[in-house]
Amino acid sequence: MEKLSVDPKSSPGGKTSNLAAARASLLACSALLLAMFLLVGVLLISIAHHLNHDAGEHNRLDIENALLSVERTAGSTVKDYAFWGDAYQNLHQKVDVEWAFVRQNVGSTLSTDLGFQGVFVVDPTDRTVYSVIDGQLQSVAVQDWLHTPIDTLLAQAREGAANSQSVSRLVNADGTPAVLAAAALTPGTDPNVKADAGPASVLIFVARLGPERLEALGRDFGVEGLRVAPASASTSTLALRDNAGVVQWTSEDPGHQLLVLVVPLIAVAGLIFGLMAWYIQRRTTAAARVMDSNYTTLQASRAALAISEERFRDVAEAASDWIWEVDVHLRFTYLSERFEVITGLARAECLGHAVDDLLTSDQGPLSSWFKDHARRVNAIVQCNYLSGDGKVHICRLSVREIPGQGYRGTASDITEEVEARRRIEYLSQHDALTGLANRTRMQEFLEGKLKASPTLERPLVMLSVDLDRFKPVNDLLGHAAGDEVLNQVSRRLQGCLRGDDLVARIGGDEFVLVVANMSSPLEVETLCKRLIDGIELPFYITEHEVFISASIGIAMAPADAILAEELLRYADIALYEAKDGGRNTWRFYAGDMNARIIERRQLESDLRHAIKNEELRLDFQPRYRIEGKRLAGAEALVRWEHPQRGLLGPDVFIPIAEETGLILPLSNWVLHAACKAAALWPDDVMISVNLSSTEFQRGHLVARVKSVLADTGLNPARLELELTESVMLNDEKIALSIMQGLKALGVRLLMDDFGTGYSSLSYLRSFPFDGLKIDRSFVGGLTASGGDQSIIQAIVGLGRALSLTVTAEGVETDDQLKALKDVHCDEAQGFYLSQPMDAQAISDLIGDRTD
Ligand code: C2E
Ligand code: CA
Ligand code: CA
Repeated sequence: MEKLSVDPKSSPGGKTSNLAAARASLLACSALLLAMFLLVGVLLISIAHHLNHDAGEHNRLDIENALLSVERTAGSTVKDYAFWGDAYQNLHQKVDVEWAFVRQNVGSTLSTDLGFQGVFVVDPTDRTVYSVIDGQLQSVAVQDWLHTPIDTLLAQAREGAANSQSVSRLVNADGTPAVLAAAALTPGTDPNVKADAGPASVLIFVARLGPERLEALGRDFGVEGLRVAPASASTSTLALRDNAGVVQWTSEDPGHQLLVLVVPLIAVAGLIFGLMAWYIQRRTTAAARVMDSNYTTLQASRAALAISEERFRDVAEAASDWIWEVDVHLRFTYLSERFEVITGLARAECLGHAVDDLLTSDQGPLSSWFKDHARRVNAIVQCNYLSGDGKVHICRLSVREIPGQGYRGTASDITEEVEARRRIEYLSQHDALTGLANRTRMQEFLEGKLKASPTLERPLVMLSVDLDRFKPVNDLLGHAAGDEVLNQVSRRLQGCLRGDDLVARIGGDEFVLVVANMSSPLEVETLCKRLIDGIELPFYITEHEVFISASIGIAMAPADAILAEELLRYADIALYEAKDGGRNTWRFYAGDMNARIIERRQLESDLRHAIKNEELRLDFQPRYRIEGKRLAGAEALVRWEHPQRGLLGPDVFIPIAEETGLILPLSNWVLHAACKAAALWPDDVMISVNLSSTEFQRGHLVARVKSVLADTGLNPARLELELTESVMLNDEKIALSIMQGLKALGVRLLMDDFGTGYSSLSYLRSFPFDGLKIDRSFVGGLTASGGDQSIIQAIVGLGRALSLTVTAEGVETDDQLKALKDVHCDEAQGFYLSQPMDAQAISDLIGDRTD
């Protein structure tokens, strides 16, 4: 304002009194308006300030929570490793680097998968005896690496061991906040490892919260741009606990947004008033202006120059970018004040230096870029520089030539943008839970490897791995436990591979491994064995010991296929074969599918005659109450006495019957024969019949069962139908109404093969079952030492809660039966108790009962 007003008295001749009067009134008016605008402005700014303040407090809380959660996770991870018998033996009782580092038990995967850049073991004399830094084995004392004493931490970790607790805290590791988690090594729940007397060694994990990690962490908790604050930062900062440093974030500034919204409106109003004032002024002062023109022009242009300079300075300092100028030798001649704030570098030190001293471009020295490109209109280049805190930052320079003098332009810091882009790229290629490659990445990798043309001698091997018995872990122990198992499985799988091979997670519990440089099938088999052995080792999840296993399908390029998709499909087919082959095993894709298809056709046509020709036969397998070992019932199992092939089991022909629709006449025959046989048995012996899911959807099941009961005169309460969950998969509503129809007849419904399907648990709750049969794969895992007991115990508890009779299938040993008795399982069936037998043998057995 000051610069614009022209003093009439000092003007030549002093003859502008009209002008002065007009200006005086105009000035008064403007002052009034200005005061009004100022008032509104002050009010707005104060509201905005409050809003910003509140948002800042929220962000501070979110950041504290975020850090707490990292600490908590680190604490529980270090605990998992420290309270572990093997670790106790191999890191405390002696320090076995082969076990810990080479075999990846406590090695580089902690850095690559879990983000712990520092892993240390400190022995009872407080000496660091094992250290892995950034995935490399090193001999550095933890204190030296951290530049901070850790005596209290060690003492607390040792104290905490008594109540199975770890300690964690934040520290400042060379300017970067870091999470430090420590736990004393103890044998955990391992009954085979004895604890020594005397102080324990302590396991320490350190997770540095570098820029990328901090930013991602902040984002997870709704805070944008979380980073270590530069010394100059004054707003949006938070001093971390334990003197771990000061962080800063990009605040949302709701107040600022408010201003952005309202200020333009006020500005428009101001503009309208201004225009009016200007119009009036123009009319009243036109004449005087002509007379004063020489003088005024001079003053006005000076004023305009001053304003323009001021405007430039304002823009330069308010913008988030910094402004630079270089001379023809590409030496800095000007740097705006923002330069210091943004880069943390001193202007005075950079002025006069060549651009190459400060900035580098990805394509080489920036000076060469200037030579080739800088003359273009709108030239832009991306550069890196080292900021004051020693970190690499990325900025985008826009460049404009000042003819004959050099260049000038702006520089915008785009570090965060580039990092965000990198992160999105990473996320689109990786599985969020395990950090393994996802399907997209795997396919790219596979295609890349196939381009390198693998040979028969050096094939590319593709392994399709599927976990057996994983689903119940999820269902019964919760998703967190399931996630933990998946994470541990990922680590174990990775631990079996070399660095340039790939492990991807492509589905819930499905993994794909792409392995190169295998010289023989034997080598592949050795790898498969190692993978399965690795997965079969127990998982310790909270207080549970969990056992799972895996099946593997193998396809190889170029022998089986040379296209990525085909290779995947063949590995999947081989996987099904492995699952068919009894799980926990592997199968190579076999090209003789054709031969098998022809054989199947033949069986199909034979099966059409089997019922008519009376080639089918039923065996019965007894089922016992575990308490008192009393016979509770028998399961009818169909067999086919094939005239050429001999006795065939249901696994061979039931799938064919299902595909061809022959399942209906077959199942009618079974139902009829089973009920007829059972009608002759005493009233307290049940008969179980297996139903196929395909017959469930078609063929009036309720009417069929009703007519069989009427024909044979069997008491409906003695008939049990065994269903698998696939029955419910197609259309739950129809399935439910059929099941209700069956219940109305008075028969009992059992869920067969419980635990092998995907959703058994939810089905049990919402469908009218009377009992469940635990799949024999779980019973097989029961051993004298406990084995699968946790899962079985959970299933039995669940059965009890839902008032279901729980039967364990496939009991083969006395130990298993005892273990089942220990967990109060109701009934058992299996070769140890009795093999399936023919109709005569079972009625003899029933007749011989002593009770
Ligand atoms: P499932 O319902 O799980 O039947 C139990 C199977 O486990 C039987 O095999 C039985 O012989 C076997 N088994 C019994 N105890 C033990 C043991 O201690 N250890 C081991 N390893 N196995 C044991 P089977 O008879 O070969 O039957 C296989 C499957 O065929 C049955 O599995 C059932 O799903 C199906 N199936 C059998 N009969 C019929 C039928 O009449 N209709 C339909 N739709 N399916 C049937
Ligand atoms: Ca069954
Ligand atoms: Ca079964």
